[in-house]
Amino acid sequence: MTAQRRYSFEFFPTKTDAGHDKLMGVARELASYNPDFFSCTYGAGGSTRDRTLNTVLQLDGEVGVPTAPHLSCVGDSTTDLRSLLQQYQAAGIRRIVALRGDLPSGMGMASGELRYANELVEFIRDESGEQFHIEVAAYPEMHPQARNFENDLQNFARKAKAGADSAITQYFFNADSYFYFMERVHKLGIDIPVVPGIMPITNYSKLARFSDACGAEIPRWIRKQLEAYGDDMQSIQAFGEQVISQMCERLLEGGAPGLHFYTLNQAEPSLAIWHNLKLPR
Ligand code: FAD
Repeated sequence: MTAQRRYSFEFFPTKTDAGHDKLMGVARELASYNPDFFSCTYGAGGSTRDRTLNTVLQLDGEVGVPTAPHLSCVGDSTTDLRSLLQQYQAAGIRRIVALRGDLPSGMGMASGELRYANELVEFIRDESGEQFHIEVAAYPEMHPQARNFENDLQNFARKAKAGADSAITQYFFNADSYFYFMERVHKLGIDIPVVPGIMPITNYSKLARFSDACGAEIPRWIRKQLEAYGDDMQSIQAFGEQVISQMCERLLEGGAPGLHFYTLNQAEPSLAIWHNLKLPR
């Protein structure tokens, strides 16, 4: 493994015991590939507060891979955020993914005291000094609510200046968007590593819905091909694996400092890409 490159797998906390057991099995399988870390998402507004905490402690402690909780600030009070930070600190957690978050519809207007991720990064630094390596989100194709690309870029820079150590991108299917984003980031004098977030393609309708919501563009040639496969999941997965593996290859050859896999709690789709790239175990 190239010294500076890092590989990580992201999970979400499950609602049922059966889902949780399955997740632990997937995590154990992925742990055998020696990733640099796992991460576990957080429901903005605290909807998964306990489940995220418990899952992180189990992945970190029992599965034995350093695990980074995601933490979002909209809808959470600073008292709640402080308490979580203290629990993570006491458990020896060393990395946090700091986000603004999106409140689920129906939870009303954001009521947290911190409005943007750069404020959460500042808060974590004020509360915990250098205890945590802080990851933030980056958007090569622009955050969907951003005023424009330039403004979003400045807002990304705010997070780095507030003390973020590195970043993970929203997923994308166009390597050039990442390279252009990195060029612009470097021109602003920001040199923190920005690791591409990789979404394996396994189910077209779910992917299309999710991509609309988070502002990730599925290029026409990929969309058309996936649409043509209809319900043929095997062909969708085979095509998806090929397209994503080729994109990852280009990203790594072009200098990306690693890959972060959005696993959706499944091992095979990420591992298929891992094997295609011949990443070491
Ligand atoms: P910010 O960086 O705060 O940006 C949000 C918007 O506000 C952008 O349009 C930006 O341009 C603008 N902005 C930023 N700062 C300022 C400022 N100071 N003044 C004015 N405008 C500003 N969501 C979850 O709920 N839970 C998760 O676990 C989760 N994990 C994620 C992991 C990754 C790697 C990524 C990429 C996203 C994740 N998300 C998660 C989604 C994320 O919360 C949403 O994309 C959210 O809408 C923005 O979060 P952010 O941290 O990027 O926000």
